[in-house]
Amino acid sequence: MPVTRTLEADVLRRQDPELAGILLAELDRQSTTLQLIAAENFSSPAVLSALGSALANKYAEGYPGARHHGGCEIVDVAERIAVDRAKALFASEHANVQSHSGSSAVLAAYAALLRPGDTVLALGLPYGGHLTHGSPANFSGRWFDFVGYGVDAETGLIDYEQVRTLARTHRPKAIVCGSIAYPRHIDYALFREVADEVGAYLIADAAHPIGLVAGGAAPSPVPYADVVCATTHKVLRGPRGGMILCGAELAERVDRAVFPFTQGGAQMHTIAAKAVAFGEAATPAFTVYAHQVVANARVLAAGLAAEGLVVTTGGTDTHLITADPAPLGVDGRTARGRLAAAGMVLDCCALPHGDARGLRLGTAAVTTQGMGEEEMHRIAALFAEVLRGETESQKARDEVRELTGRFQPYTG
Ligand SMILES: *Cc1c(COP(=O)(O)O)cnc(C)c1O
Repeated sequence: MPVTRTLEADVLRRQDPELAGILLAELDRQSTTLQLIAAENFSSPAVLSALGSALANKYAEGYPGARHHGGCEIVDVAERIAVDRAKALFASEHANVQSHSGSSAVLAAYAALLRPGDTVLALGLPYGGHLTHGSPANFSGRWFDFVGYGVDAETGLIDYEQVRTLARTHRPKAIVCGSIAYPRHIDYALFREVADEVGAYLIADAAHPIGLVAGGAAPSPVPYADVVCATTHKVLRGPRGGMILCGAELAERVDRAVFPFTQGGAQMHTIAAKAVAFGEAATPAFTVYAHQVVANARVLAAGLAAEGLVVTTGGTDTHLITADPAPLGVDGRTARGRLAAAGMVLDCCALPHGDARGLRLGTAAVTTQGMGEEEMHRIAALFAEVLRGETESQKARDEVRELTGRFQPYTG
């Protein structure tokens, strides 16, 4: 279904051309530049259609069969389908699909397992921990006593020995594994072992890799973690939102931590869209997609390394790459600006060594567009030309336009 020609778009165009114009301009931006932000993807027209549906009108506090509002009999079915599909997809005993975002899911996980003032061990923010892993600007850093583990400055790999030592020293109530910028698989079994040794809960914040897990392209944290927090909009390619997976024994605590403790009414349109995305993620086509995402990231990482960038950990196991452009004579921020001018959109991130900012990019969106390894080689070359200043940004922009023209995220 051509997204630009939905009934809703036509209605909006007539009623509010100003906003309709903005929606179309954003669609045009997404379709004519390269979306290399590691956390982004293109959800399907079916997912977008659930998001734009009448379910958005429905108030539904509570859970299926136990709502505080009338008229929930139909949306209850939608939520049950979403929960059942999530449980089947991730082989989890319980799923809560109401979290409004990844951060809300983490907040609820903490609420379910911790008391204010408890000690929590998580990847430090300078090494790729998320805001919810103890930032002083976030509720997590304000309400809990976070201790940060790091990555090895040389290899960029999680320092598992340090995790063990810090756990023994600080006896945390919970250990969090998961990152916004870690390109390698996480050793969940080892985290479980350390958590068991010190009597801590293990919380896996799998916001990034959960889509790869769904497609069988990354190991699952579900057998190891007490609670798995995730987003549904990154590699998983669903609507913007969060999700929590856990065993049956924590189900009630987790559900209560989401509603009524940290959230109000569930967003039924988003929950329906999550169900659609889980349905898509259970198909063989999604398995192919998830493996292609990783294959593309490996080729892109190797291409960037061949062009002289320093790729953290020497490569990737996932959709995500972090790299230092310094050998090409530019710092991360300058690099991001130059690449943006050329139509390549990505983020800066912290690097394991020193204070310099690096680049963080991912292949989830370009792979959804149908790009393959040949296109990754081309992107790596274009990257280096732009960063070295060998290509005018306008000429690079034209090349990006040519590429995106052949791989449209939405047809019509
Ligand atoms: C993206 C992400 C989140 C937060 O997701 P939001 O939906 O932006 O709140 C939390 N933790 C990790 C590790 C993430 O990558």
